[in-house]
Amino acid sequence: MKNGRKIATMISKVVLVFWLAGDVSVTRCANREKFNIGGIFSDEIQEAAFKISTSEINRKHPESGVELVPLTVLVPPTDVLETYKTACDFLRTGIVGLFGPSSAHSSPYVQAICDAKEIPHVETRADFAAERNESLVNVHPHPGVLARLFKDLVRAFEWRRLVVLYEGQRSLLELGSLLEFNNRKGRKVVLRKLESVDKGNYRAFLSEVKSLGETNFVLACSVDVLEEVLKQLQQVGMMTESYSYIITDLNAQTLDLTAFQYAGTNITAVRMLDPEQIEIMEMAESLQKQNAPGSDLPVLLESWKTKLETVLLFDAVELFHETLRNLTVDGKKKIRSRRIDCDGPTAWNDGYSIINLMKSTRIRGLTGDVEFDVKGFRTNFAVDVLELSLGGLIKIAEWNSTARKLRFQRPQKQSKPEDRADVFNTTLTVLISINPPYQMLKETTEKLAGNERYEGFGIDVIDELSRLLGFNYTLIEQEDGSYGVMNKTTGKWDGMMGAIIDGKADLAITDLTITSERESAVDFSEPFMNLGISILYRKPEPVPPSLFMFVSPFSFTVWFMLCVSYLIVSIAIFIMGRLSPSEWQNPYPCIEEPQHLINQFSIRNSFWFTIGALMQQGSELAPISISTRTVSGFWWFFILTMVSSYTANLAAFLTVTTLVAPFKDIDELAEQKEIEFGAKNKGATANYFRDSNLTKYKKIWSYMVHHPELMLDDNDQAVKKVQNENYAFLMESTTIEYVIERHCTLAQVGGLLDDKGYGIAMKKFSPYRNDISTAILQLQEKGVLTSRKIKWWKEKRGGGKCSAKAENSEATALDLQNVGGVFLVLFVGSILGVFGSLAEFTYHIYRRTKREKVPFKEEFKKELKFLAQFKQNVRETNRCATSSDKNLIDNDKYNFQ
Ligand code: GLU
Repeated sequence: MKNGRKIATMISKVVLVFWLAGDVSVTRCANREKFNIGGIFSDEIQEAAFKISTSEINRKHPESGVELVPLTVLVPPTDVLETYKTACDFLRTGIVGLFGPSSAHSSPYVQAICDAKEIPHVETRADFAAERNESLVNVHPHPGVLARLFKDLVRAFEWRRLVVLYEGQRSLLELGSLLEFNNRKGRKVVLRKLESVDKGNYRAFLSEVKSLGETNFVLACSVDVLEEVLKQLQQVGMMTESYSYIITDLNAQTLDLTAFQYAGTNITAVRMLDPEQIEIMEMAESLQKQNAPGSDLPVLLESWKTKLETVLLFDAVELFHETLRNLTVDGKKKIRSRRIDCDGPTAWNDGYSIINLMKSTRIRGLTGDVEFDVKGFRTNFAVDVLELSLGGLIKIAEWNSTARKLRFQRPQKQSKPEDRADVFNTTLTVLISINPPYQMLKETTEKLAGNERYEGFGIDVIDELSRLLGFNYTLIEQEDGSYGVMNKTTGKWDGMMGAIIDGKADLAITDLTITSERESAVDFSEPFMNLGISILYRKPEPVPPSLFMFVSPFSFTVWFMLCVSYLIVSIAIFIMGRLSPSEWQNPYPCIEEPQHLINQFSIRNSFWFTIGALMQQGSELAPISISTRTVSGFWWFFILTMVSSYTANLAAFLTVTTLVAPFKDIDELAEQKEIEFGAKNKGATANYFRDSNLTKYKKIWSYMVHHPELMLDDNDQAVKKVQNENYAFLMESTTIEYVIERHCTLAQVGGLLDDKGYGIAMKKFSPYRNDISTAILQLQEKGVLTSRKIKWWKEKRGGGKCSAKAENSEATALDLQNVGGVFLVLFVGSILGVFGSLAEFTYHIYRRTKREKVPFKEEFKKELKFLAQFKQNVRETNRCATSSDKNLIDNDKYNFQ
């Protein structure tokens, strides 16, 4: 163990050295300022929590302008020297805040450095000191304040006599105010220090305490020894209905109390965090992943093991971040970190601005509102009071440190009216049917019996309800899986409905839809899940890209207008060229007074000039006059915009695959003939169409009646049919969600046709209905139902398969199919060019033979022969050029460019 710690310390030091080597001063990165914060911890969980919380905060507030960079070191709790050195090392890196240590031994030394150097010091441990040092902010409530809660509890329970069993000096300090009860209004308080014969054996001591004949105890010892103490209390016979205990450790929720929950002992505990709060579950999940990469333990069940100090670390980091954010917002204050030497005289100037603002900042953290009083102690915090019931620890009251008032959540048991049946302490028979993900048989090689055989969303709901309401339950299975239909002639129900009506089961849970017909025969709880009817069908298929897709970015009108603009602008340039005197240029600049002027914008050149610009290639023609330049400028601007729009739109057209769905809602499905459809036989979905007054739904119902072979008995059958045939299945949205998480070729088509819910069925006028409905609402409000849904829909049994695939999708390379048309155009253009040049060549020879009066055929052959000599690049003219010829040639030069 010692060696392990040493290695951990060494590794952490390497990390620190790495940081020291780099430039760790405040750096600006993408508008966020990075601030280093140090953390000294003695266990890996705290260290991991610190790192996760900083990255979580950085991720959650990308706009904040502040980015926290955690530097951590693991130091054994008793190694004061090492802690001191580490704190100094941190100061030398230029940290803006120091978190930890969690050990009471070394904390004063770090505190002393932080006070001297004015570095904000943040702690999460229970600190008994009556005063807070200047630089310290501790998010853990002061134990003295908590003692008032125990006083209030003792008062509320009307204990006249009590024994405080404390573990050490500190626990005694914590409970100082309880002593005030002694001798007041005839109360008696006895203090006994927990003593063990040899380490961990308290039996002799407890037997002696038992002989005192007292029945009310306050157990002021840490959770580390509590489990053992409670076990030994049971062994000495002090875990019976006549005994009552208050556990003072705020981490009582981490205890496994299953062994004591049937003994009838009154055990009261307190906590500052709700392990079923969704954020705490997520935090526990991240911690678990960090600790055991690849582990697939049932994470959501592990959150109850999370310690308060770990959760407080999250709140502390959030508070620190919020403070820096407030301080630096809009450049209000510039925080400059500074490397500080422990032995030097300098302190950090900005430290107190952070410390003071942190004490007046208020945030909503994982442990409720985090705020401080003027002396820097946490104030206005809430604590849950729990009671051990048959279903485990359940919340019975809430206590607020400022109001100092215990608010009990439900009336005390005695005050319940006698005539109202209570689900508490009863054993209920719960009827289920196997239908994933609501109820499933566990996949294991072990032979399981009783409730252990089943798992699923519905089982979790029942389990949560049993914990909350304190009942036991026995699961029984509906063999044929039928939810039940009413026989129209006898009026009798079969299936699960029949079993509830006949009293064979107290509750029935599955994806049982609350319908008016069913509600007339049984009672339903409040819905635990909401849904509507939708369609399960194959995912739309991509349309094969067209050969001429490159034309798609513009509509026909735009292409047409583009051609028209090209014509108009070319002609306009031609006319303007002729009209503008400056476009008429001297062809021989060395002749001062030329006989001819030429104009570059012949009709052909004008068209060539505009097309050259349109294709973004240029044409070596440069407009000279103001008018031609103006038109050219506007033409170029027009082209710039058009080409950019074309390019952008073309990219989208080429990369996005267009999907075609054969129908997009129930109306289109009902109208077409090719795709068959159906629903679950005798299920609520089919009945919805049966009972609907809408003509379109009546039509669907008549189709169903005429195609009984398309009405299926279970979801697996339906999924296979949808995958392999041209078949659509009308299904409830929640089940569709489950299916499409696992079968990536399937999808929900269209929205929801109605809005309804699944409820727990029970006998008409059932005495449990109110309790169960209230508990369902509580589970909904606390986010427990949502987390269970995530667990069974997205995480367990192949969940998340399709979403993971979607994340991996990357941009695909363009295929020849996508750009084939462009190749075709190029090919056709080249062929046209070849034919054009042949025509030009023939015409040229024809003109020459005419002029020189020689036979065309011979001249043509001769010319071809010459051209076939590929090495010959120079040719002689067969006549001398006259000056008029020269003019002609020059003219040609301009006109045939
Ligand atoms: N939840 C339905 C029922 O309670 C079964 C599924 C369905 O009809 O789509 O009958």
